Amino acid sequence: MPSNDVLPERESSHAPWLLELTEQLPGVIFQLHRAPDGHLHFPYLAGSGTGLDGLDRRDLEQNALPALERLAEPDYPRLMALIERSARSGSPIATTFRLRLNGERMNWIAVRAQPREVESGTLWVGLMIDISEQMLEEDRLRRLSDTDDLTGLANRRKLMTRLDEELSLSNRHGLPLSLMMLDIDHFKSINDTWGHLQGDQVLRELASLCQGILREEDLMARLGGEEFAVLLPLTPESHCRQLAERLRRRIAENDFGVGSGQVTVSIGIAEHRVGDSREILLQRVDDNLYAAKHGGRNRIMAGA
Ligand code: GH3
Ligand code: MG
Ligand code: MG
Repeated sequence: MPSNDVLPERESSHAPWLLELTEQLPGVIFQLHRAPDGHLHFPYLAGSGTGLDGLDRRDLEQNALPALERLAEPDYPRLMALIERSARSGSPIATTFRLRLNGERMNWIAVRAQPREVESGTLWVGLMIDISEQMLEEDRLRRLSDTDDLTGLANRRKLMTRLDEELSLSNRHGLPLSLMMLDIDHFKSINDTWGHLQGDQVLRELASLCQGILREEDLMARLGGEEFAVLLPLTPESHCRQLAERLRRRIAENDFGVGSGQVTVSIGIAEHRVGDSREILLQRVDDNLYAAKHGGRNRIMAGA
């Protein structure tokens, strides 16, 4: 590699103020070199993130492997493919990945690097920043926007996202998929008799009672008001009906602070027919719920 491609060695030739400045950067600036045989190393590394546990900057100057070995399992092949593509096309690398920095903890790192062809291969100049805190915050916000405040269940938005995913799996592989909708019977009169706060308590308790009965892979959501939906992957209608019956019975037997038998639900169920749209499935479940209400409430209906 021609010497003018690679930045001079830090300690020997940097002005002291520049050395101090780069070492205090809240991130890492680097050069990454890739030889034609694929060998990767960091000719230059500077910044506060380079003093990592068990990672010696001098080793990385010779071989990038000790750093690459700390990548999270799925990120390693992905990053390698990106490096390969960037070298071939000359397009920059811009991605995020997870790196094990201390012990078991994974940190999220954002990287941006611009490649340049040099005589001895490809040389990237770039920077990396630890974005773990932002990712945690994003995760928190995502969870908030997917969650119903009152019950802690998934909200309508989350249900629709999961429903689309499960529908596409079902359509592709012909897997059974069922959906149920529950609506509390005469909830208005529960509110009128016991007050809105007690009504809220009924909604919370009903949510946790159902969650205790459902499987991990089922998704229960509050659609709004006193209406709930349960998405049941890998479940044919016959199983869905058994589960709905169990929910209906356990709810009718439960006290909810207003006396057992006072809170009941009507349930509409339907199994997805491969090829049908989301709207058709929702409509069928809704029609069945309507039929359960009109059939006298505290019952389950299928058939639409
Ligand atoms: P039906 O058997 O036909 O479903 O009768 P219903 O009274 O349950 O149905 P309706 O749609 O007439 O009334 C729903 C009631 O649910 C009215 C509303 O005040 C109450 N509700 C909606 N959201 C909440 C909530 O967050 N908390 C409480 N406490 N009540 C709610
Ligand atoms: Mg109701
Ligand atoms: Mg309702």
